[in-house]
Amino acid sequence: MTASKIKAERLLRIAYHEAGHAVVAYVLRRRFTNLSIIEDDDSLGHVSFAKHHPKFQPDVMSFDKARPQIEKRVMVSAAGDAAESLLTGRHNWLGARQDMENAHRMAGYLCGSPEEETAYVRWLWIRTQNLLRHHVHWRAVEVLAAALIEQKRIGQKEARVIIRDAIDAYFAEHIAKVRARKAA
Ligand SMILES: [Zn+2]
Repeated sequence: MTASKIKAERLLRIAYHEAGHAVVAYVLRRRFTNLSIIEDDDSLGHVSFAKHHPKFQPDVMSFDKARPQIEKRVMVSAAGDAAESLLTGRHNWLGARQDMENAHRMAGYLCGSPEEETAYVRWLWIRTQNLLRHHVHWRAVEVLAAALIEQKRIGQKEARVIIRDAIDAYFAEHIAKVRARKAA
């Protein structure tokens, strides 16, 4: 493989990884600030998230209140690797190390043992990948990743519009197909 092809494939993986974070954040209604595939000292790309809401205090919240919020955060963290591995068929644990550390830190607030924590994060990783596997969500990842490769950096407002338009276009096509089938 030529050097430029290797570089292009790497960029594609990073774009899908970041788009995966953003689409799952969108679907689970978690805010993010912007996403980029510009390399810096610590990472190859990133999605920034809004600061934790002051009311989110997982160490003092009741289990029932904390759980859904923690679950969303674990899923958004898992979404980078979950999207990347849907694209390539392989995990990239090295690229997702920071994400998985975040996921485990969050899960630690709920889980009573390392065994439970591992199982909980693993389950949510699978759940996240299944969510991304839905055709409509995967279409949004593809469209956002393509935009990211072109623009390198996308603000959250624009990213949300891209995701929403991709979802709308998917459903419009789907409805047209169903109608055409009924008319035939
Ligand atoms: Zn990530």
